[in-house]
Amino acid sequence: MQTLLITSPTEANIAKAADIISNGGLVVMPTETVYGLGANALDKNAVTNVYKAKGRPMDNPLIVHLATPEDAELYAYTSENFYKLAKRFMPGPLTVILPKKDIIPYEVTCGLDTVAIRVPSNEIAHKLIELSGCPIAAPSANLSGKPSPTSFKHVVEDMNGRVDAIIDGGKCDVGVESTVIILKGNSAEILRPGLITYEDLAKVIPDITINEAVKNQCTTANPASPGMKYRHYAPSSPVFLVDGGDEETIEFFKEKQQNENCGILCFDEDAKHLSANNLLTFGGHFDEQKQAHELFDMLRRFDSMPVDKIYARLPSDKGVGLAVYNRLIRAAGFTIIKANKTQE
Ligand code: AMP
Ligand code: MG
Repeated sequence: MQTLLITSPTEANIAKAADIISNGGLVVMPTETVYGLGANALDKNAVTNVYKAKGRPMDNPLIVHLATPEDAELYAYTSENFYKLAKRFMPGPLTVILPKKDIIPYEVTCGLDTVAIRVPSNEIAHKLIELSGCPIAAPSANLSGKPSPTSFKHVVEDMNGRVDAIIDGGKCDVGVESTVIILKGNSAEILRPGLITYEDLAKVIPDITINEAVKNQCTTANPASPGMKYRHYAPSSPVFLVDGGDEETIEFFKEKQQNENCGILCFDEDAKHLSANNLLTFGGHFDEQKQAHELFDMLRRFDSMPVDKIYARLPSDKGVGLAVYNRLIRAAGFTIIKANKTQE
């Protein structure tokens, strides 16, 4: 398939992409979180092609992207809590799971009676949805299993020749996917952490919990969010997370750099103590937002380095850190090594 690369996202060019969507085609669009692989959410065939283009398992449902929160009425059963969240966080990087209306095909939800709704703030995504005149179902635009794409270059690597068009929107602002929450009566549960944190959400819905699978390996066959089951975000070499204080972790990395053919992913402050060979940084120790912004780009960069394995610093699991922790621990297949081996 010939892919149209739209490097200048003018209104006329976005209108071309919108025509592709309304005619059943696939378009990769930038969003504020990561790039999304979009199709008309009301067109079963187009939606099925999204799974094929990504190699995505057919039991991992898609998020439906809308131009305004009010449009959710057309596709889902909303609630007072949905509108409270919408008022505070939409448009923006929050996905809310609601009971679906019949108009949403089961191809979007993988047979579930709920649908994931999001209103992106990225102007190109917003314009594309408006001009298409339909809701856009879009998962992250990576090949299944690889880190989500946060730049045009990443998308071209994965999707050139597999989709009808790709729109260049530069680097994504946030860098990790949206926070996903499910509403249950007066309470809510976080299924995937993102830039909008537990603390932010608790101010609007005080009765909110974090699903166990956010930090731990998913053990059930039918988790609340099917995406929790899969290995994700992984570069081609295996990743090992290293837990420990600054000094002991730096010693651990030094020893590995001397004796192994490895890559190191560390905080900015660590770099001056280590060899620059196959070393990448992903933000300051306490700058979780920067870590989220850089993480997927850095994981992809290791693919062009001659390393057998990657050792990465364990991020904080607080605030936005939880989103970084959730992605890295999956990239690492849940393996955490203690830097100070006597603690093992
Ligand atoms: P992605 O589009 O690749 O960012 O992934 C979307 C995430 O939302 C996946 O983890 C899905 O499992 C999750 N998701 C989408 N729809 C639903 C739903 N109806 N119920 C629970 N989780 C959902
Ligand atoms: Mg994804």
